[in-house]
Amino acid sequence: MKIFTKVVDLNLELDLLRQQNKIIGFVPTMGSLHDGHISLINACSEYNDITVVSIFVNPTQFNNANDLKNYPRNIDKDLSILQATNTTILFFPDNDEMYPEKDERVFKFDNLENILEGAFRPGHFNGVAQIVSKLFNIVKPNNAYFGQKDFQQLTIIKKLVTQLNLNINIVACETFRESDGLAMSSRNLLLSDEYRAVAPKIYKYLKDSALKIKNNSIEEIKKYVIENINSERLLKVEYFEIVNTETLSAVDNWDNSTQIIGCIAVFAGNIRLIDNIRYN
Ligand code: AMP
Repeated sequence: MKIFTKVVDLNLELDLLRQQNKIIGFVPTMGSLHDGHISLINACSEYNDITVVSIFVNPTQFNNANDLKNYPRNIDKDLSILQATNTTILFFPDNDEMYPEKDERVFKFDNLENILEGAFRPGHFNGVAQIVSKLFNIVKPNNAYFGQKDFQQLTIIKKLVTQLNLNINIVACETFRESDGLAMSSRNLLLSDEYRAVAPKIYKYLKDSALKIKNNSIEEIKKYVIENINSERLLKVEYFEIVNTETLSAVDNWDNSTQIIGCIAVFAGNIRLIDNIRYN
């Protein structure tokens, strides 16, 4: 694995590889790698000649300074994890490299950026679009891999690629979970033992709701999930919405011809966890 911290050096390497007609796959991350990230890297290395992984904790997508400060970072551990994968190139830039000047760009995604996560994390998706557009511009991958755990992010990235006329295939990967069902997340490291013990309830109630969807209204399903999770002493639902998988607009009633997904954000103490469940 080659490690680059400068865009100019990475560009030289990637230009060479492109001249050799290598197919380039890309997995952008914020580090603190876990098996969810590894599943993306494995999918990438299976279908591409070159697997580029980036690690960059992007300040512009954090709407909360404490969240940015406390975001887990462990580059030494990440390096040893990556060494055990088929990663060809790690791009590990610093802030000055990614933002040589202030990024003033404003992205709009047909209001998708203002709902669900966007409603509670103002500016978050603008920051995501800023960094992902820069990374796409630098790496110019053939294929880029994103997790369905961040379903809204995935939807917005597909729109970004369309808006910018980028010739990049976006590959959506399944959510990787701990054995107790908790969606893997770098933020899980921040959970104390008692919060970690209760956090799997989030997915438990999401899964239960999928069994109930046929015989209950959307309103009843929402109530079921929210009330049950809130009844756990250490969990507090920030939002739970059932939306169309294409438009992300809320659905009031459901027939099997519409693909729907339940998206949730829950506070376990100060730690904010997100997850989702497909209902069909
Ligand atoms: P992050 O480092 O949290 O920004 O995530 C980098 C990429 O990994 C994003 O595309 C995420 O959606 C994806 N990812 C994060 N957690 C998981 C998971 N548990 N399973 C699959 N992909 C994930």
